Amino acid sequence: MAVQNEPSFRASVDLMFERAVRLMDLSPGLEQKIRVCNSTYTVRFGVRLRGKIETFTGYRSVHSEHMEPVKGGIRYATNVNQDEVEALAALMTYKCALVETPFGGSKGGLCIDPRAWDEHELELITRRFAYELIKRDLIHPAQNVPAPDMGTGEREMAWIADQYARMNTTDINAKACVTGKPPHAGGIQGRVEATGRGVQYALREFFRHKEDKAQAGLSGDLDGKRIIVQGLGNVGYHAAKFLSEEDGAKIIGIIERDGALVSEAGLPVEEVKQWIAAHGGVKGFPGADYIPEGSTVLEAACDILIPAAMEGVINLGNADRIRAPLIVEAANGPITYGADEILRRKGTVIIPDMYANAGGVTVSYFEWVKNLSHIRFGRMQRRAEEARSRLLVEELERLSSDKGLGWTLADDFKERFLTGSDELALVRSGLDDTMRTAYQSMREVWHSRNDVEDLRVAAYIVAIDRVAKTYRSKGL
Ligand code: GLU
Repeated sequence: MAVQNEPSFRASVDLMFERAVRLMDLSPGLEQKIRVCNSTYTVRFGVRLRGKIETFTGYRSVHSEHMEPVKGGIRYATNVNQDEVEALAALMTYKCALVETPFGGSKGGLCIDPRAWDEHELELITRRFAYELIKRDLIHPAQNVPAPDMGTGEREMAWIADQYARMNTTDINAKACVTGKPPHAGGIQGRVEATGRGVQYALREFFRHKEDKAQAGLSGDLDGKRIIVQGLGNVGYHAAKFLSEEDGAKIIGIIERDGALVSEAGLPVEEVKQWIAAHGGVKGFPGADYIPEGSTVLEAACDILIPAAMEGVINLGNADRIRAPLIVEAANGPITYGADEILRRKGTVIIPDMYANAGGVTVSYFEWVKNLSHIRFGRMQRRAEEARSRLLVEELERLSSDKGLGWTLADDFKERFLTGSDELALVRSGLDDTMRTAYQSMREVWHSRNDVEDLRVAAYIVAIDRVAKTYRSKGL
């Protein structure tokens, strides 16, 4: 969606990369090795549908194999192309390095309008696409592990996992070939909400730092902050829902495909989501103003803008009109290189995509580990914790009876205390910990170096440095 005279998405990512490299001490050879995309596989395959053969084009790009497996989602959209897939694969490399998930970067895409096909047809198409990728080890638990992205979800991942298992009947780790599966098919609790949850944790962490808020002219906590969200898909919906329901933020604008809703009183995210499901768009939602030209709402006054839809939506065409002092990139690449420069000059603070939306791949990592360990996530730790808790409960009860105190622990408290660390709680605390640690590594570079102006360049420096270290330790 880049406007004229703007570099392509991949070129934009490369320019951001190069801005960081200029502040680093990397040999030109290593710089190039890290930056370039290792390979992109293009496949065209036919599927017999509605009485005729339909041809589809798909891609799987591998950006960096400094760690394997490589990781990244598969996107279903009509505008998927090689440049986009390569840009997204590169972002996966840096994202994984920043949050320290031990993966290289990859991404896939299929040119398709998923709404144009029914469920059975989508299954046939997905299985055939997966077949093509599995044959070439572009889906494999040890080499390349896809996940959901725009236009795909649990359902598609379950089909892919099943397709892999059918083609690899003796692979005991077959389930780890893809993440984002439904919990009953080897998935993990909390994966669907993970990216939105990560956006929430990223914002909470940002708001813990007074100086960082002050850079955006903000203070206090998230309570009452006015937020505009673009895209109420999986990421935007969960982020908006959690921030409004749990942190007291006000969602004053929601931008969707068919227009935008605005309401200074705050929009009920759950109800808007249900309205979209029932009516195919936001138009007509009661109790809010409807703006047909939705993208103009990106330019409205607010405290926080969360682009959660697709790349290039903030570009040379609108960057100078963006009024939000803080932008959280929940989507991948929503701000072009040129727009980034304009916003930086204006003093807009940007929490960059490779950090802000890393919640998805972080929980994917937990899922992959769970599949490889063949045990429920955190079960070992939970058993140990339960044993310790039981000791404590017994000790309290013994003390009470020894001393004739007559204390008793309420049954529901005992129950919660003994079994309080379920999978979802462990996933959330693991994600929170990851988001805090990654923010701090970025922040340290941001504040400790005079030549580092913003969080994006800091994020790139941290990520590139880690990838470079891995390459060097391999003797490259
Ligand atoms: N598609 C998501 C992303 O862009 C998730 C990737 C994953 O879980 O591997 O980060």
